[in-house]
Amino acid sequence: MAKNDNKDERIVYGPPRDEIEVLPGVRRYQFISKSQHRMLTKNLNRIAMVIIALSLAFVIFKAIFSGTGYSVYCLEDRSCMRVLSQPEGQNCPEYIYPVEMVVASRTADYDRFIRQGGLRCTQCGNCTKWCILDINIPELAARMQELTLEALAEGKVDAGLVLEEGFVDPQSREPLTEAAALARYSKPGYEKVLKLYREMQGIIREREVNIAVR
Ligand code: SF4
Repeated sequence: MAKNDNKDERIVYGPPRDEIEVLPGVRRYQFISKSQHRMLTKNLNRIAMVIIALSLAFVIFKAIFSGTGYSVYCLEDRSCMRVLSQPEGQNCPEYIYPVEMVVASRTADYDRFIRQGGLRCTQCGNCTKWCILDINIPELAARMQELTLEALAEGKVDAGLVLEEGFVDPQSREPLTEAAALARYSKPGYEKVLKLYREMQGIIREREVNIAVR
């Protein structure tokens, strides 16, 4: 006779424990891995694991096919943020959080990329040396800039977002006027940002003309 034919598969979990403090005052919430947040039966757990695996595969393949595959290696440990506290010339000239750009590029999240200052990345490479995995952050930023430009041309990106948050003063976070943007991005090292700014302005103007003609 087969054993455990009528065995109740319900899993009994222990009482929840306090969240672990990773750093003083910083608690890490891991909903998937905490036993008290798992499903009631083993089969439900298996289905949940398959869904999670498929979701992860989707994210990985999406990044690979978008040309931002290296972003999936990012551990989000934020070591690249040390670039912000370096002296001038070795820091990020636009005060961008590199990790946020990398995470946005993993899912081709254009809005997040724009809000985090990705369009202003000069691709200087100062942040790369702080990445413990040597992820080529400027290469990811460059690819995301291309993708965002294409998405803007296809109408998938809000022009208002580009104008309001894409090209801002890194200190005040206020949007730059056209004259201020051209002056700032005409400085040495900003050639790629200037080109991107002009191309995006051109697309937005063309769109406004088309709307006015209708
Ligand atoms: S590569 Fe981009 S994000 Fe990194 S330091 Fe240079 S401007 Fe900042």
